[in-house]
Amino acid sequence: MLGLMQDYPLLVQTILDHAALNHGNREMVTRSIEGPIRRRNYRDLRIRALRVAKALQKEGIALGDRIATMAWNTDRHVEVWYGVMGLGAISHTVNPRLFVEQLVYIMNHAEDKILFVDLTFVPLVEAIAAKIPSIKKYIILTDETHMPETSLPNAHAYETWLAASDADFDWSSFDENTAAGLCYTSGTTGKPKGVLYSHRSNVLHSLMCNQPDVLGVDSRDNVLPIVPMFHANAWAITFAIPAAGASLIMPGAGMDGKSIYDLLESEKVTASAAVPTVWLGLLQHLADNDLKLPYLRRVLIGGAACPRMMIETLENKYDCEVIHGWGMTEMSPIGTTGKLNYATQHLQGKDKINLKLKQGRTPYLVEMKIVDDEHNDLPRDGKTSGHLLVRGPAVSSGYYKHDEKVLDENGWFNTGDIANIDELGYMQITDRDKDVIKSGGEWISSIEIENTALGCDGVAEAAVIGVAHPKWTERPLLIIVRKPDSEVNREDILAYLDGKIAKWWLPEAVEFIDEIPHTATGKIQKMKLREKFDGYKF
Ligand code: AMP
Repeated sequence: MLGLMQDYPLLVQTILDHAALNHGNREMVTRSIEGPIRRRNYRDLRIRALRVAKALQKEGIALGDRIATMAWNTDRHVEVWYGVMGLGAISHTVNPRLFVEQLVYIMNHAEDKILFVDLTFVPLVEAIAAKIPSIKKYIILTDETHMPETSLPNAHAYETWLAASDADFDWSSFDENTAAGLCYTSGTTGKPKGVLYSHRSNVLHSLMCNQPDVLGVDSRDNVLPIVPMFHANAWAITFAIPAAGASLIMPGAGMDGKSIYDLLESEKVTASAAVPTVWLGLLQHLADNDLKLPYLRRVLIGGAACPRMMIETLENKYDCEVIHGWGMTEMSPIGTTGKLNYATQHLQGKDKINLKLKQGRTPYLVEMKIVDDEHNDLPRDGKTSGHLLVRGPAVSSGYYKHDEKVLDENGWFNTGDIANIDELGYMQITDRDKDVIKSGGEWISSIEIENTALGCDGVAEAAVIGVAHPKWTERPLLIIVRKPDSEVNREDILAYLDGKIAKWWLPEAVEFIDEIPHTATGKIQKMKLREKFDGYKF
């Protein structure tokens, strides 16, 4: 017998309807690409998103068409995002930090029809336009006054294009499993792959993000998502914040410490989210100028392991709660967050920080487990490491136009991360599958060696890769970039590591290079390092 409840489809445009109706005056503040701060509210945002949808329909855009954006976090980007999705088309947020070949590859693979592009990226797009023939129209996210000279064919100023359309439009209606967004993974290995979010997965994921143990904002919060909308579905924030009725503060292109600080201060931001690198810039700016963070109450830090120093400084010096998060593009992306719970809330000092270094617990609607090489379940004992598998309604079941099977027979997705899970459900990443170093049949955590080595004076960056070894199968090689003017050497680093990590983890060799290769999203390209040191002899 089926329940007698309404079959109400979970469509993302209902989030904007809710925000406009119930929190219509809540502000959306943008540091515009042209310069000045721009203020709108959710009512305006909905009207402009409806106009986007109507204008796109006039262009012949229909259900399932891919519309690309190459843009910073701004109000215009959000209204295009909702306008595209509310029409039933698919919003493809292109990461401008990808290499040119990758950009050409993904836009051809997605067969994008229109590209909305920020002023900043016009020169980049001009350079590749001839290689992306599916794009028939370029809409530059600015007004006529700021419209640049451009060689782009069929280029229009966004505000002029939008002005030709009104908001007399009803959102399209369709199945909740319809695709809404497309985001290509950063491609640390092989070619980028498209993760295709649905309306249903996005709505459920935004509710997950708003659980109190995740970001848990409410309608009194002012939230600054520094994580770009072109990274992993904007970490759900552009859905979750309007759903909660909180104010959305958009940083535009200003990612440096000063620009971020200025918005935190002027807009009384209470919550924010970004990768560790951004927080480093902010902390430096605060220290250099002897500033405080009187309004900021909590920050979500993820995308890469959050360093101990960052948690300590933000919590102890600035009285700002750090929520260490883990996830991946394929998970919409939130997988775990590390808030204290009933059993850990009493922790103080070092114990508290040690717990916060773990990546945390799953919210409701994410399941996770660890398994060994033979796919047997491993215990949640906080010690045993294994392959981290996940499943849930906001986890990928495949890649766009890709045959590769990504789920096992029980629907589990292998994250490629290696982790342990403790009795309370706190997960800690110990390594990545592709980076794993298995020495004498035991795991070595390259991440832990890297993070520890970063504490040594004179070390700017550290990477550890596994290198073939005749006796132990693999041993770790530590690769270091020195700070400018530093002469730190192998002995200094090994002496520093001694006693801080297991003795048998100590790298056999240390190599110094000028620069460690990174992906467009800032992750170390271990594949490149492995190629560089292929055949290395200890
Ligand atoms: P992406 O899909 O580009 O967001 O990358 C996801 C991957 O980044 C994960 O599978 C992890 O390997 C890594 N990652 C994300 N968050 C964290 C974290 N808090 N600590 C360690 N690794 C992380």
